[in-house]
Amino acid sequence: MHKGFVHSIESFGSVDGPGIRFLIFLQGCPMRCQFCHNPDSWKTGVGEEWTADDLLDKAERFKSYWGDKGGITVSGGEALMQIDFLIELFEKAHQRGINTCLDTSAQPFKKEGEFFEKFERLMAVTDTVLLDIKHINDEEHRKLTLYSNKNILDCARYLSDIHKPVWIRHVLIPGITDEDEYLEELRDFLSTLSNIQRIDVLPYHTMGIYKYEKLGIPYPLDGVESPGRERVAHAESILQKAL
Ligand code: SF4
Repeated sequence: MHKGFVHSIESFGSVDGPGIRFLIFLQGCPMRCQFCHNPDSWKTGVGEEWTADDLLDKAERFKSYWGDKGGITVSGGEALMQIDFLIELFEKAHQRGINTCLDTSAQPFKKEGEFFEKFERLMAVTDTVLLDIKHINDEEHRKLTLYSNKNILDCARYLSDIHKPVWIRHVLIPGITDEDEYLEELRDFLSTLSNIQRIDVLPYHTMGIYKYEKLGIPYPLDGVESPGRERVAHAESILQKAL
């Protein structure tokens, strides 16, 4: 039996996967996205410790609200950092007939070795994946998150190969991701995949700034404003063509 380090829980979510869902945010993330609004979720090995059974017992208290499509969504931090716990949680969720959704940046993904064996096991009990693509350009991705996007795009291709339903999430940041060149490159990449059910453009926001102040970390995107409504609509109009 594994225990999971949990950052926080929300009883009701309506945008993080199909239907109404119980949301579990796991602690720990290797990425350092400059726009992250949850820097308090980065550290590993801290947070509240939960067993899979206790989390599912708590989630099932809200089952009557889920309808046909709802269930649980596990997000982060980066949920794949605790893949052993995640496998146990989703296997037990499926045994109870609970729909499962994984929200991930896929940064730990590699299509080989022990990680991949575990990932395949996880996918066998994952109904939907919400895949965050932070930047389509590898160099820009490194600047934005400190990591390459190559394995993340590999993960997207693999999920298409196994026909796993995927929702894409893309944060629109003025001057960084909000460039037609990049949006078109992302659209062209997504057009090569056969499993994308939905593409969400998430406007960058500054609501997490106070957390940086609290943690004593300089805020990397100081001065960058949220995109206007028309820029969001423009990005959506480009990316939706991949569906
Ligand atoms: S992957 Fe998510 S939790 Fe991790 S740094 Fe990026 S935005 Fe923050």
